[in-house]
Amino acid sequence: MPEIPEIETVRRQLEATIVNKQIKLVEITREKTFNVPIEEVLHHLEKTTVTRILRRGKIIILQFNQPISLLFHFMLEGYLKYLNPTEEFEKNYQLMLEFTTGEKLYFCKMYLGYIHLEMTTDLDQITEIQELGPDPLDIDFTAAKFQQMLTRRRKMIKPLLMDQDFIAGIGNTYSNEGLFLAGILPDRKASELQTGEIQKLYSKLRQILRESINLGGVRDTAYSSSDQLTGGFTPELKVSYREGEPCYVCGTPISYAKIGGRNAFYCTVCQH
Ligand SMILES: [Zn+2]
Repeated sequence: MPEIPEIETVRRQLEATIVNKQIKLVEITREKTFNVPIEEVLHHLEKTTVTRILRRGKIIILQFNQPISLLFHFMLEGYLKYLNPTEEFEKNYQLMLEFTTGEKLYFCKMYLGYIHLEMTTDLDQITEIQELGPDPLDIDFTAAKFQQMLTRRRKMIKPLLMDQDFIAGIGNTYSNEGLFLAGILPDRKASELQTGEIQKLYSKLRQILRESINLGGVRDTAYSSSDQLTGGFTPELKVSYREGEPCYVCGTPISYAKIGGRNAFYCTVCQH
């Protein structure tokens, strides 16, 4: 599932390609992906101009020159494809936005994900956003706040980091990588972590999320034919998907286990 770096990579590409473009035509092939009837989506989106692209956790929010927001969540498989007027698209899609300039934006494999139309631009009024924990890259997400959040949590640290109500936007990959860099085993109880470990985890998590954003995350689905960014962080992964391969630091084979139902990759020597 895409996490903050992959979603932020998509957000940045949307920002670079569709802001200030006017929607000419909207096509929907699957009403179940939406929270409102098709007619309502068409009514509100056609002829509107995209003004802003925001992100909260794993949710991207499109805003327009109208008091509405279009939220979408990819869940496991969803992705976007942006095509020039000369390019053909043959895959299935659930939503297509055609701009007056001729480019088309396709929303694909949204079967587990969703696209929601909300009648406000105030994100604090939107339930899907209200339910999220803090975004780890927010300015007000401080080390002190992180420590305070962890104190009374008896859950294991790996599944806790992936709990979207606790912190928004971290999944399997970056919880594995952050815990490795911080030297913490994934099954440690959150409430038993020492202050120094919490501070290290805080700074390593933010560092790796930023580095991955700069390199385009670990996804393999390109946004457009000119996309040179997506997936550039994949060779940088230290433990994820490396079961049995030698740890880059100590040479011990990387371990894999299900921890709290989640896929944990870790080094039994570098992590304690
Ligand atoms: Zn190691």
